[in-house]
Amino acid sequence: MKGETTCWYCDNTLNILNTVRLLDDKKICTECHSSIKRDLGLNMFNSKNISIEDINTRYAELGRNLENEHNDLRLRKDDIKTTGIYTKVTIDVAAGGSAIGVSGPVTIVQLNDNRIAINPKNPDFYYLLSTEFNGAKYKTVLASQTAGGSSTDTTENTVKKGKTGRIAAGAVIGTMLGPVGTVVGAYAGSKGKDKKKVKGNKTTRHNSNTTQTTEAVEVKSLAKINLKRISDDRSITLTINADTRDYNELLSLQTVSTEIEIDQETGIEEPKSREDIIKELKELKELVDMGIVTQEEFDAKKKELLNL
Ligand SMILES: [Zn+2]
Repeated sequence: MKGETTCWYCDNTLNILNTVRLLDDKKICTECHSSIKRDLGLNMFNSKNISIEDINTRYAELGRNLENEHNDLRLRKDDIKTTGIYTKVTIDVAAGGSAIGVSGPVTIVQLNDNRIAINPKNPDFYYLLSTEFNGAKYKTVLASQTAGGSSTDTTENTVKKGKTGRIAAGAVIGTMLGPVGTVVGAYAGSKGKDKKKVKGNKTTRHNSNTTQTTEAVEVKSLAKINLKRISDDRSITLTINADTRDYNELLSLQTVSTEIEIDQETGIEEPKSREDIIKELKELKELVDMGIVTQEEFDAKKKELLNL
């Protein structure tokens, strides 16, 4: 059956458009063909004049077993199908991805049981421990138009950083306003009959012959995703490019706490040390400041931790 109507390595169904016939008449799909080419450093010609056996031998020299890798991927695919997908988020990996073979934009899939699958080519599952956001960053864009009709657009690269921890009480995370005050302040020195209008992140200034508009535009900042690989408990941190909107999407992913250590024999939770409790409260307080945890939730947890 293997290799009849499906790819030798994956379970892709073959058709006239996605089939690559190898030297031994075995067929693989174009997707597998291109990853084999890349992995083995083959060119277009010799990548077709190679047999399954040759491919397997060369992978073995690299310490890899292509058939097992594809079996793992197939198992993961089946697992995802059975468990069902809870949510999907696309992230732009800036650093830390080499450990799991990801970089640039990649889709994270969270299953109904909270496990996370990252790369379609990565057979592992992960748990999301936590996310962190550096806070929104803004640049000021200035555009001026003269009554004569000529207009100039200037981009000022002054980047203003808004700390997530400084959001006004009650503000929902993600509705952070640009530093309007800063923009307005830029005109403080120019007195006169100018009219100034401030609307959201935009400031418009008119005088007799010029109209100037400054706008605080959010630029990408950095966020972090702290993961734990389920197979070996390895901690992996991905640094990603994100703005407020991207970060809010990340918050739709469910985090899994590994803080609670259950004693395997008795099933009783180990008592937390004083340092652990203080550390946990500090972390919780930060979440309150970021607007992720409410004051009520914090108070309840504090009571519980301190046995009040
Ligand atoms: Zn294939």
